[in-house]
Amino acid sequence: MVYCYLSPSTTATTRARLFAAAEKESGQWLHAYPSPPSGTYLEPDTLRLAVSLRLGVKVCTPHRCPCGTTVDELGHHGLSCQLSAGRLSRHSALNDIIRRSLATVNAPAILEPNGVSRDDGKRPDGMTLVPWKMGRVLVWDATCVDTLAPSHLPRTSNRAGAAAEAAEIKKMTKYRGLGHQYHFRAVGVETLGPWGPSAREVFKELSAKLKETTGDQRAGSFLSQRISIAIQRGNAASIFGTMPRGPYLDVF
Ligand SMILES: [Zn+2]
Repeated sequence: MVYCYLSPSTTATTRARLFAAAEKESGQWLHAYPSPPSGTYLEPDTLRLAVSLRLGVKVCTPHRCPCGTTVDELGHHGLSCQLSAGRLSRHSALNDIIRRSLATVNAPAILEPNGVSRDDGKRPDGMTLVPWKMGRVLVWDATCVDTLAPSHLPRTSNRAGAAAEAAEIKKMTKYRGLGHQYHFRAVGVETLGPWGPSAREVFKELSAKLKETTGDQRAGSFLSQRISIAIQRGNAASIFGTMPRGPYLDVF
C-alpha cells in the first residue's frame, strides 16, 4: 500500500494516474532489458508514449478521432475509444503470454476452447488441457480496461486497480455457471498498468511455477515485464489509431 498526499484540487485523472503509477506492476516495463529476440524491446514511439502517459504530459496535437470524438493533447481518448486499434492486439498478446507461460510449466493450453461457454454462448479466452488446481483445469478470460476512461475515473481516482477489479467481478458473474470441473479465473489489467486481485493471484501462481520449472528466480519478473510491455504496446497502437491515415490531420 502506497500513501501519498494529494491536494483536494488534484483532478480525478491525475489522481488515477498517480495511484496507478504507484503500483509495483505498472512500472515493470521500465525494468525490462530491451532485447528484440526476447520481445522486451520497446520501440521508440511506444517508449515515448509509455513515458508520457506515466507522467501525464502531452503526446499529440489535438485532433479528431475517426469515431468523431475530439482527442486532446494528452491523447487519453484513444485508450478507451470504441474503435481502439490497440484493443485486439493487446488482448491477443496478453492471452498469448499466458498460454506460452502455461506451456513452459507443462500445462499446455488452448485459446477459445470449444465446449466451454458462458450463459450468452461466448467462449472464454483459454483453458489448460491438464488440471491446474485441486484437480480442475484452469479456464481464464482476460481483459484490459482503461484506467482513465471517464466511466472508470470515479473508482480509479480513489484506488489503484479498481477498474480492473470491477471488470474481473463482471467476468466472474458471467462465468458463474461453469461446471465444477473448471477453475475459472478472470484476468483484469488496466492501461496504466495495475492488475486486479484475480489477475494478481493467477500471475503469482504462474510465477511460482515458472521459477520451479525453469530454476530461474527471475522468471516471475520476466512474466510481469512481458505483460507490462504488451499493455504499453496496446496503448501506443490505441493512441496512434485515433490519428487519420490520410495526409491531413483534422486539427482544431
Ligand atoms: Zn475515438
